Amino acid sequence: MIKVQPGIPIARPTIGSAGLTGTWRVLRPVIHYDRCTRCRLCFFYCVENSIDLEKNLYPSIDYNYCKGCGVCAQVCPTAAIEMIKEVK
Ligand code: SF4
Ligand code: SF4
Repeated sequence: MIKVQPGIPIARPTIGSAGLTGTWRVLRPVIHYDRCTRCRLCFFYCVENSIDLEKNLYPSIDYNYCKGCGVCAQVCPTAAIEMIKEVK
């Protein structure tokens, strides 16, 4: 195990207010699980790391951090992700 020395800055992913999506998202991705093949491409390509994989490897989207960029929908080979208008 690596011993961290005091005073050395390190980056550590954590849950916090940084990166939280506010009320400004315009589009939201919705997964149609009947079309999902669990290929995980959306998970690997999400630019905000806001897609989790459940134990069965089906993806789920954390809307607290998703920015609605649509990359996941673009890379999905089965068109299982639909971008819909955000409802406020
Ligand atoms: S890219 Fe599409 S098919 Fe692949 S895991 Fe994501 S939603 Fe499912
Ligand atoms: S819309 Fe963008 S930020 Fe949201 S889950 Fe898809 S790739 Fe990630």
